[in-house]
Amino acid sequence: MGTDAGTLREADLIVLDGLVSALVETRKGIAAFQALETSLLASAMALGVDRSDASRSDGDMPLRAIAAEVGAALRVSDRTVQRRLGEASRLATRFPVTLAALTEGRISRAHVDVIVDAGERLDEDERIRFETAAIAVAERETAARLRPIARLLAERLMPQMLSERHAAARESRCVDVRDLDDGMSQLLAVLPSTLAHGIRSRLTAMATAVADADAAEERTVDQLRADLLADLALTADPQGLDERGLVAEIRAVVHVTVPALTLAREDGDAAMLEGSAPIDIDTARLLCAGETSWERVLTHPVTQAVLAVDTYRPTAELRRLLRARDQRCRFPGCRVPAHRCDLDHVHDHALGGATAQANLAHECRRHHVLKHHSAWTVVLHPDRTMTWTSPTGREYPDAGVPPGVAFTDDGESPPF
Ligand SMILES: [Zn+2]
Repeated sequence: MGTDAGTLREADLIVLDGLVSALVETRKGIAAFQALETSLLASAMALGVDRSDASRSDGDMPLRAIAAEVGAALRVSDRTVQRRLGEASRLATRFPVTLAALTEGRISRAHVDVIVDAGERLDEDERIRFETAAIAVAERETAARLRPIARLLAERLMPQMLSERHAAARESRCVDVRDLDDGMSQLLAVLPSTLAHGIRSRLTAMATAVADADAAEERTVDQLRADLLADLALTADPQGLDERGLVAEIRAVVHVTVPALTLAREDGDAAMLEGSAPIDIDTARLLCAGETSWERVLTHPVTQAVLAVDTYRPTAELRRLLRARDQRCRFPGCRVPAHRCDLDHVHDHALGGATAQANLAHECRRHHVLKHHSAWTVVLHPDRTMTWTSPTGREYPDAGVPPGVAFTDDGESPPF
């Protein structure tokens, strides 16, 4: 450890070590209390439901009386309490494995919400398999990183093929305006995931180009995306925002991960839109047939290893492979997408580290700098997992993004 300003000293690390341990224990305690609260609310719900009479218009009066009683005691509105009673009951009765994991402090309340959201539409047998697999991921990833994985896990267990459900769902695509306060409204478009993510990706690239072109640009990327969307929809092309006219030339780049066998089979698995949403296989086949600027990532059906990546944009093969492998910054919990990350030589190039797949990893600027200027260290293993070691000596794995998620016979998902 160096003695530069800004470096943690030995004595600091001892204090920090104690604080981190205490925080971990505190979080476990909070999780256990939240689980207890859920069980109590679920019991109150059960009491109300038992006394309710669905055949009468005021038949839920016992439940409302209970909600009002609990609300008054907790100083929460009875409507809010009634909603929480319903949520608690759903969690306790339909996701018992998840509630048990919360009780044991193995996962947080935020993880629970993601699991319930993703698994809600599954039948009971499939739900238990789903819970087990999702909890295994939740024990090592943040809730935000869990979300796309949980959605894919649930997708794999849905009885009806995604293609069939997608064909029905796309009938309901629409554009809607919802009025907000202060003279604002939401313009909401319900679109196939590929198109929605493609639009957002293109707006992000355009916003970044506008910001890069003018150092004095004060709008945030969010604001720029909104302005560009309006500009694109209301004018022929978004010329007003960039003097060089480059913005209009930017195309969306979206990675689609497709298990290789899927393309050949009728009953193929769902494909995955860059770490976010499962997409139906007909759309994936269409994208893989060319014509577009989608980057195609073919994965091995068993090992899930990336087999090949191709694109119509002229980038180096290695860069593309690594981008497909990492998809995002490899620091624990970080979700900055790979195309906005640095490619870091894990073992310093100046010290002999090779410019090769086995020694390169995507890190966002913040975490790249953290690695080089603090006592954080990292190892990249041959199976593409990484182990980050904190200044206090704690080890955190980053398993990487699953190019595909599969179930093994015991219902557990394999490590990825
Ligand atoms: Zn990062």
